[in-house]
Amino acid sequence: MTNLLWLQGGACSGNTMSFLNAEEPSAVDLVTDFGVNVLWHPSLGMELGNDVRKLLDDLVAGRKTLDVFVFEGSVIRAPGGTGNWNRFCGRPMAEWVKELSAVAGFVVAIGDCATWGGIPATAPNPSDSTGLQFLKKQHGGFLGAGFRSKAGLPVINIPGCPAHPDWITQIVVALATGRGGDLALDGYQRPTTFFTSFTQTGCTRNMHFAYKVSTKEFGQRNGCLFYDLGCRGPFTRSPCNRILWNRQSSKTRAGHPCLGCTEPEFPHHDLAPGTVFATPMTLGLPNEVPVGMNKRSYLTVVAAGKAAAPDWSKDDMFVV
Ligand code: SF4
Ligand code: SF4
Repeated sequence: MTNLLWLQGGACSGNTMSFLNAEEPSAVDLVTDFGVNVLWHPSLGMELGNDVRKLLDDLVAGRKTLDVFVFEGSVIRAPGGTGNWNRFCGRPMAEWVKELSAVAGFVVAIGDCATWGGIPATAPNPSDSTGLQFLKKQHGGFLGAGFRSKAGLPVINIPGCPAHPDWITQIVVALATGRGGDLALDGYQRPTTFFTSFTQTGCTRNMHFAYKVSTKEFGQRNGCLFYDLGCRGPFTRSPCNRILWNRQSSKTRAGHPCLGCTEPEFPHHDLAPGTVFATPMTLGLPNEVPVGMNKRSYLTVVAAGKAAAPDWSKDDMFVV
């Protein structure tokens, strides 16, 4: 049995909604097939009030073992570092987070708010929100850069707004089956199995990217969303076009630009006017070019691709 506790701080419950949609494996499979014992979850827990308080006290005191502590939402530190804007079971949630993290085998941050602060931590960040071990790109966050759970790992970050359901359940399975030590994490503590390739990897619009055929409207089936609609697919580490959403689609397949939600800077440019669904440009060149390119190589590739673009690349090929 793997005891798992899920708590929620400054959050919209989007990651819970996502988790409950998991298919490979599902949330139910975690319990029936992988021995996960969900001690409590804000949407699933049967206990209320003092019974939840008693559970948390038992975990902190070591009377009950906490194998996996999952946190969704930002850690709210306002006002003045007290955390009193987000109280839970008679105390600031931030105090529970600190004490439960100290006794947990593994600590898992789910979604952007828990990993790097997400939208709540966007300037001017009135709730003084932070992620568990990062504040945007800055290492440290609420628990500090040196934090290690009892199993010796830093916080395992599964970002996204929300995180894909199967990223969540597959990592929980790894922990519940004793393979937590095998998890390779990148510099932002994301499992590399999910966060090495880009959203662009597997995108059905790659040939339109290569031929610089742009789409200027949402929902169109052909054209690339990078040139005019600000798609962040070439900058964003996510498997959204390899592990599809609902097993059938992704933002870019549906004609919506990737917003870069698995990266610590999300929401990018602090949502400054003109930066959402737009490609910030200077002198006709995008301010950011795909990872691994410089502006000169980008210009060369784009000019050659555009010149070579066959007529069919401008047509809607998805005629069925
Ligand atoms: S920029 Fe976006 S829409 Fe274009 S190919 Fe890359 S991921 Fe697909
Ligand atoms: S396509 Fe981009 S914005 Fe959408 S979920 Fe994937 S990484 Fe996030």
